[in-house]
Amino acid sequence: MPGLLTIYDDVRYVKGVGPSVAEKLDKLGIEKVGDLLDYYPRDYEDRRTIAVLNDAKNGQRATFRVTVTGQSTFYYRGKHHPKITVRDTSGSAILYCFNRQFLTNILKPGVNFYLIGAPSRKYGMPTFAQFDYELDTETHEPGILPVYRLTAGLSQKTLRKLTAFALEHFGSAIEDDIPVAVKRGYGFKDRREYVKFIHFPPDMIQLRRAKEAISYQEFFKYQLVVALIKSKMSLIEKKRPKAQGRLKQEFLGNLTFSLTTAQKRVFAEIEADMKRPSPMNRLIQGDVGCGKTVVSLMAALDTIESGGQVALMAPTELLARQHFNTIRSLLSGMEIEVDFLTGSVRGAQRSEVLQVLKSGRICILIGTHALFSGDVVFNNLSLAVIDEQHKFGVIQRGKLREKGNHPDCIVMSATPIPRTLSMTLYGDLDVSIIDEMPPGRGTVHTEIVRQAQSHRVYEKVAEQIEEGRQAFFIYPLIEESSATDLKNAVESYEYLKKEIFPDYRIGLLHGRLSEEEKSAVMTAFENGEYDIIVSTTVIEVGIDVPNATVMVIEQAERFGLSNIHQLRGRIGRGGHTSYCFLIPDRSTGMESFTRLRILKDTQDGFKIAEYDLKLRGPGELVGRRQHGIPEFIIENFEVNTRLIYRAQKDAKRIVENRDAPEFSEYLKRFVNSTAYKRAALFYGG
Ligand code: ADP
Ligand code: MG
Repeated sequence: MPGLLTIYDDVRYVKGVGPSVAEKLDKLGIEKVGDLLDYYPRDYEDRRTIAVLNDAKNGQRATFRVTVTGQSTFYYRGKHHPKITVRDTSGSAILYCFNRQFLTNILKPGVNFYLIGAPSRKYGMPTFAQFDYELDTETHEPGILPVYRLTAGLSQKTLRKLTAFALEHFGSAIEDDIPVAVKRGYGFKDRREYVKFIHFPPDMIQLRRAKEAISYQEFFKYQLVVALIKSKMSLIEKKRPKAQGRLKQEFLGNLTFSLTTAQKRVFAEIEADMKRPSPMNRLIQGDVGCGKTVVSLMAALDTIESGGQVALMAPTELLARQHFNTIRSLLSGMEIEVDFLTGSVRGAQRSEVLQVLKSGRICILIGTHALFSGDVVFNNLSLAVIDEQHKFGVIQRGKLREKGNHPDCIVMSATPIPRTLSMTLYGDLDVSIIDEMPPGRGTVHTEIVRQAQSHRVYEKVAEQIEEGRQAFFIYPLIEESSATDLKNAVESYEYLKKEIFPDYRIGLLHGRLSEEEKSAVMTAFENGEYDIIVSTTVIEVGIDVPNATVMVIEQAERFGLSNIHQLRGRIGRGGHTSYCFLIPDRSTGMESFTRLRILKDTQDGFKIAEYDLKLRGPGELVGRRQHGIPEFIIENFEVNTRLIYRAQKDAKRIVENRDAPEFSEYLKRFVNSTAYKRAALFYGG
């Protein structure tokens, strides 16, 4: 069979891949046989030595050889979970199997298996909360094994087998995909060798070399896409009727404040872009409330004056509505047609908006991803402003672009990200930074409080409410689907309402509410009809209530630092002194406390993002699988900074010398590759 199969064939044709496995592979982006080769491990497991339980080190992942001695259960967050005891020749251990009911049928008393995980010691006995296992019936591979990112119902073992199969039969078909000159310059070996070693490394040194080579090569290709698209874009001549800046002047004259120095600087950068013939592609980064929207609005006014339409897209209905309200009030008195389109705008109302949009009468259309629908037709979309880009991913940016004739594009991000990362994620965008807050904002004090001390927080909340202020209580809901988290938030809401603040008005906000319900709760909070709002997610509190002065974040250890920083940006927006309380869960270790302390010590969003990047990797900052960049690169980001810069330099040099014989053939092939075409789609090239 392998004789007939090629890397371009559907992975379904591989022996052992039935429809159910194929479906799971598809979820991981593995469609073709060749995709298996490019699906790089996220980690490795060194199975060359077997550790013993008695000498197991806290937090250090190792492989043990154990026998099941008993089963029972433990109670956690409203549910019973299996608790399995095991022993080896040296001692015993306890496995806490959170939500892994099925394990009771597999790890029965007397069963021998390999236990892989990092123990933590409680009362002297090693315990495992997360672990992998491998039964004796499966062949235990003694080498360094790949650990892939999986999806429910697919095991490491299955994926390892498939990768090994693909390597064995098609490994030799892997070809180099960087220019020969570059390969020689770095003394790289053939790519096929690196790919083989990245899946099944013979030793750690070979693994490190393979990772470095592949990382460089992936960065290089990515940067080459970016460089090619940028150079292509620079050739586009966008029609730019001249604006006198009349609307902008009128707008500035109406403002009750003057722009900060940072806002002026960033707007000057935008103005310079908009004087060039090619489309603008700019990322504005800055903390929540630093005034990004105001700056984008000025660009919008120039665009409108010269006859273009503007789209502003926000990640949620709530944020879109908020933008709509602020922008309308900022533009009040000016004759500019601003309209609103989200999933909740339906029927005749929707048709009306679409018709007016098509006629060109709407100048600014504000909405959510509903703006992408096929029937949304602009008369002359000339500027697209996208708020909170990382929540959309680059694909959407390209889609919005398609709605106009080379529209300018501004992406506003309130997650400040370090430069190396923005070069990778937003390589095609020029970056502007607003690193200054408008004057007159209150100070925000941040404090980390132990659960046992919660009463101190409640006292502060009460004190603030008595002074007429309002408060947020935030609970983590990291996964949309987490029923336990939802239950926690709802229970806490009941508890606060009954036991702690019976005299105050408390609202509850969570993801299971409809858009209308959410809007109603938020509007009531904005109007001061609630003293406290209990909420689950970050997005839902993305809202401007200057009267709110307290932010209580429960189970703070479960949030990324940047997330907390963003949440904290919701208070201190009026002139009042504000308070952010981080309450880690009782079981939180010292490390998490140390991590959270960074928030107490700095207000600088970029510094905080740097820490996040260092401590938890970029996944935290950018979300997973949203960026069109191999996860492998993202996961190993920190160590790869040096390679990124090199790859960028090399890619630029090659595009600048595209006619040189050593590059021209290569580039011709490159722009015809599926990898390039796919990437070009992302970046609107
Ligand atoms: P961002 O988009 O960065 O979150 P906005 O542009 O929405 O920030 O501004 C946040 C709030 O601050 C708005 O109410 C806005 O009117 C106000 N604002 C913006 N720039 C200034 C400034 N220079 N001085 C005072 N207030 C400002
Ligand atoms: Mg904003």
